[in-house]
Amino acid sequence: MPEESSVYLHRMLLGQMANYVYLIGCRRTKECVVVDPAWDIPEILRQVEADGMKLTGVLATHYHPDHVGGDVFGMMQVPGLAELFEKVQVPVHVNKAERAGVAQTSGISESDLIPHEGGDELQVGDTRIKLLHTPGHTPGSQCFLVDGQLISGDTLFVQGCGRVDLPGGNAEDLYRSLNQVLKKLPEETRVYPGHLYGPEPETTIGKEVASNPYFQFESVSEFLRAMGF
Ligand SMILES: [Zn+2]
Repeated sequence: MPEESSVYLHRMLLGQMANYVYLIGCRRTKECVVVDPAWDIPEILRQVEADGMKLTGVLATHYHPDHVGGDVFGMMQVPGLAELFEKVQVPVHVNKAERAGVAQTSGISESDLIPHEGGDELQVGDTRIKLLHTPGHTPGSQCFLVDGQLISGDTLFVQGCGRVDLPGGNAEDLYRSLNQVLKKLPEETRVYPGHLYGPEPETTIGKEVASNPYFQFESVSEFLRAMGF
């Protein structure tokens, strides 16, 4: 991760589904937010403290329990927002289309969730974070753009993209999010996905546009066929 700017960015690989949790903040003011706090809340808070930072908020990429906590297919209970709130209560920023879903999955109240539009910006100390609405994996999926780096959640993976066969998934929306939102970012934009699914932990927009199979379709109908529709 680049160290030159005042931007603080720390990546943690947590839990049984290879989730990445990111801390984003400002080295000058020592404030940070956490993206998708789940699986091991004490470890996340320990890291914040070890880096001398103060947690001032949460960003949720989408409502799935491996990202915000909750029940996974009736098989396991993932700690997340509810457990975080027992230790520290901070604003949780979600896309407006995801507000009910995040509340329902994580068990926290809708009134604790701040709904956002795509394009909204959040200031954390000197660090500005832009919220991009990238529906497809879920209706309110969002990516976060910070200092030429993209936290891509489950929208874009290294050599892959989010599945669309879960409730709320939509392949056409995902095609548009990939081709009309993410593809337009500068090719040197570094991409930090929501899971370690690919051969490497991170990538760039240029690399993915050139070689990720899901960027190679000329039309929605080709994409739909490839996704099994
Ligand atoms: Zn997901």
